[in-house]
Amino acid sequence: MILTITMNPSVDVSYPLESLQINDVNRVDSVNKTAGGKGLNVTRVISQMDEAVKATGIIGGTIGDYILKNLEIEGIQHDFLKIEKESRNCIAILHEGKQTEILESGPMLDESEGTSFQGKLVHLLENVSLVTISGSLPKGLPHDYYASLLSLCKKKNVKALLDTSGRYLKETLSSMDKPFLIKPNETELSELMGKPLTTTEELKEALNHKMFDGLEWIVVSLGAKGAFAKNGNAFYKVTIPKIEVVNPVGSGDATIAGFAIALHQGQSAESILKTGMATGMLNTMETKTGSVNKNNFQKFYDSVTVQKVD
Ligand code: ADP
Repeated sequence: MILTITMNPSVDVSYPLESLQINDVNRVDSVNKTAGGKGLNVTRVISQMDEAVKATGIIGGTIGDYILKNLEIEGIQHDFLKIEKESRNCIAILHEGKQTEILESGPMLDESEGTSFQGKLVHLLENVSLVTISGSLPKGLPHDYYASLLSLCKKKNVKALLDTSGRYLKETLSSMDKPFLIKPNETELSELMGKPLTTTEELKEALNHKMFDGLEWIVVSLGAKGAFAKNGNAFYKVTIPKIEVVNPVGSGDATIAGFAIALHQGQSAESILKTGMATGMLNTMETKTGSVNKNNFQKFYDSVTVQKVD
């Protein structure tokens, strides 16, 4: 069983509009609401790939109830720490080929809620083989909170895949207990290194930086260009074919889902990379964010090329 952690889940609402009228009324005929937050996208993709998964994190209020109901409709197991404060809504307005987003920051948590979740996680870790941690932290929790969760995973000998950015990622990289895998995208890696990185040599040099010491896997996802990865001391260039993309949002989450499945199944390094790329690509083919069609998995998996780089 894979456990996914979403500390700040949301109801993702998308409003398709012909055009957005500023300072005027905009009426929408069709509304799409899904259980969101990066971690829940990961959860949905693992479930759609028919692998056992349980979602956890902190959730609250009537928005929280809506998210849980949605997970149940999709047949996804969950065990969240429930609080009274409301979880958040995140709104995407799709207009004139553009996407304007309004993202609530979510509830302000206090220390005791952070501690209660740590207690819950200790129990949940008894029955899982692997953990994924995705997204930002809710307000009120310390920036090194993920490091405390990684430390709990380490104590139970459970591998953790971490997909976060900015200060949350920086804090965990400088902590004692490292994640097993991180997956920054090109922008996130450049931000971390403080410079743009494009060539293979530049990527290699970046991944050899001492800030990544102790990590088993660093996968830099490169959108349509595939990925560049380091596993132990080996480097891999991963190439994917050009495809007609419908909606690329959530592809990184789908990639994490693929990596989690492949690691859980004990696949080889090459196969882990192919699986993650295939689920990422499958996500780009669906209108729904964080969603894949398993029937096309093998075709996409076979289309990925993994090349060892000296
Ligand atoms: P993130 O969503 O975290 O920014 P990426 O955009 O790098 O992550 O996407 C993750 C993976 O999803 C890529 O490595 C690739 O496999 C797939 N993917 C994303 N965008 C595209 C695209 N335009 N064409 C083909 N595959 C894509």
